[in-house]
Amino acid sequence: MVIGSCDGLLRAQAVLGQNAHRPGARRREEPEPAVLAERQVTATFFLLGEMVARTPTLAADIAAAGHEIGVHGWEHRYLPWRGPRATADDLSRATELIASVTGTRPRLLRPPYGVLSGSALIAARNLGLTPVLWGTWGREWTPGATPASVYARLSARLHGGVTVLLHDSDCTSPPGSWRAALGALPLLLDECDRRGLAVGPLGEHGPEYVSGSDWTYQDQPRPNH
Ligand SMILES: [Zn+2]
Repeated sequence: MVIGSCDGLLRAQAVLGQNAHRPGARRREEPEPAVLAERQVTATFFLLGEMVARTPTLAADIAAAGHEIGVHGWEHRYLPWRGPRATADDLSRATELIASVTGTRPRLLRPPYGVLSGSALIAARNLGLTPVLWGTWGREWTPGATPASVYARLSARLHGGVTVLLHDSDCTSPPGSWRAALGALPLLLDECDRRGLAVGPLGEHGPEYVSGSDWTYQDQPRPNH
């Protein structure tokens, strides 16, 4: 995660899928994200296009650090409230910018607020994006959230194959909420170690996902993944 270096600048949502991660895939000399780098873990970051436009080097750094980059739209707005043209333009613009900045064409879409629309599904298909959600989250944006509360909430549904949603930015949430997510991350990684669960990006989540064929939208438990 890039917590601390992007506070308020970049909407990045780290989704940590538990699966076989590739030791050595990370380059230890990368300055960020510190917690994930220290633990040699890579994740999937869903970026907002408008934030990437403000800080393109940060988005490039995340990709260069070995993380997977997905699309969170250009603006953070409910897609069902937008028309087909606006939806297609929004997702296309974000996808093209991320591809340009990171050098890799994104393949995943996590819609704002986790809400899709028919137009969004059509646009995603045209752009080669697979919509994804999550299996557990820490709700670090709720008032009074702490690392312990975030960890307690997400660990209640922690199992092999689950997708974990954490936010490393507060650009669309209360100021400083990312701190609770950052504090919970070592607790999460420790527990995964205890359970023998490897942590990695969604792209390593399983062959059915990698093929991009029929794994869509809702994370399903898959033991030992
Ligand atoms: Zn969001």
